[in-house]
Amino acid sequence: MANQMMDIVKGSLQVLLDDVDFLPELAGERREKAFSSLLSILSTPDHVNKSFLRVALENGQVTRVPAFRVQHNNVLGPYKGGIRFHETVKEEEVVNLASLMTLKNALHEVPFGGGKGGVVINPREYSDKDLYVICKKYVQYFSDILGPDKDIPAPDVGTGEREMDWMMGEYKSIRPGESYRGSFTGKSVENGGSLGRREATGKGVYYTFRYLLHDFVKRQEHWLSERDSMFAKTVLSLKDKSLKIAIQGFGNVGSVVALSAYQCNHLNNKVVAVSDRNVTLYNSDGLDIPALIKFVSMNKGDLPMTGDQLETAGVKAKILGIGEVLTLDVDVLFLAALENQVYQENMIDIKAKIMVEGANAPVTTVADGYLSDKGIIIIPDILANAGGVIVSYLEWLQGRETQFYTEDEVFEKQLSKMKNTFDSVFPPFFSDSFTLRQQCYIHSVMKLSNILYRQGKLY
Ligand code: NAD
Repeated sequence: MANQMMDIVKGSLQVLLDDVDFLPELAGERREKAFSSLLSILSTPDHVNKSFLRVALENGQVTRVPAFRVQHNNVLGPYKGGIRFHETVKEEEVVNLASLMTLKNALHEVPFGGGKGGVVINPREYSDKDLYVICKKYVQYFSDILGPDKDIPAPDVGTGEREMDWMMGEYKSIRPGESYRGSFTGKSVENGGSLGRREATGKGVYYTFRYLLHDFVKRQEHWLSERDSMFAKTVLSLKDKSLKIAIQGFGNVGSVVALSAYQCNHLNNKVVAVSDRNVTLYNSDGLDIPALIKFVSMNKGDLPMTGDQLETAGVKAKILGIGEVLTLDVDVLFLAALENQVYQENMIDIKAKIMVEGANAPVTTVADGYLSDKGIIIIPDILANAGGVIVSYLEWLQGRETQFYTEDEVFEKQLSKMKNTFDSVFPPFFSDSFTLRQQCYIHSVMKLSNILYRQGKLY
């Protein structure tokens, strides 16, 4: 497990160890030993599966492709997590992401464990036929450990509904007569996928911020004003302001966050900046997000990069460098691109009062500590970007029931699950001295520890 995650899990276990009301039946030396066992279990994966897929490419060459399926922990249910196709995939990274899935599912009461897959390829360098063969091979090599009640993959960076459709098709061929609909999630709607899955993560990311700033603050304004918490002061200072928002990343997550913010009438929002791999676009009066989404959909996912392209898009904006999105004078910064974007060198230039992690781990440990000490609220990945796995769970459920929900029903169920989590972590966050990330981990580790103890895993 990565150092940051490991440290927070360790810290969470210490908090629970000191809390005499938590598992009071464990006392004295037995309690010490049980908590040390919990650390050992939660900090290591159950299985690291690695294969070198033998792939016959369209060009006649046979190649070996390294592939992983890491199963971190299944105490809460079948392993669950995406499969990433990227040239930088490494075993340690897949293990970290699998661990995060265990913690994320526990936090949001999704009855799944944590898993993750990875294939070390740059998908842009392969033909569609080659990618199809790689998907089939992945399922062939790992078919014994996958399945609707064992381990359920989903898309991640470099994969999407097309790959999940292919993989489920192969799984079905390998296991004729067995249940298959829940073997993969993130499939196309025509092939048993859920309505609303594509937008689920972005909508959830925006909703997390909106719930905190609008619903929670409005309901708890008086209570918050009596807290001796710099984070309470931060949210109260933004309460009735017209908020300026910047968003890093304009892909699946970032563009949905941008549109949700643009359309949100509850808060007086203005999306003043968005960015992608090439450019930051800035307009202090607010950007025309629907026009940018239309442009991106017709230009291979890229935002306008030149004056001419902005004119074609019908968008007024200044063109800035890609890193500038992070340090603009805004109230809220959504991070929806990559990991490690806010770090020691740029953290002092951050001006946002609230940062929301749509991507996994976009803020390094050092930056997290520095910014939190200044009262900046960082809404962590584990809390904010769980919409995808929650709707994956709903897809799995719909596949089992062979009953499908409308898009509104999916969204309502997703938000209701996330709302339950917010209501359990926001009050202690504003009462204790922990950051929101630490508070989320304490909740998650508490659930996992409780179940591990009750299932007799600590003997
Ligand atoms: P995506 O590939 O659709 O979009 C990524 C965006 O980031 C693109 O706009 C790209 O141009 C931009 N980008 C790439 N490099 C950049 C750079 N150096 N600076 C600024 N922007 C850059 O990916 P996505 O599905 O939107 O996922 C974004 C992040 O969220 C990833 O880290 C992913 O792991 C995480 N995440 C996604 C989901 C999901 O359901 N899609 C769920 C949980 C977490």
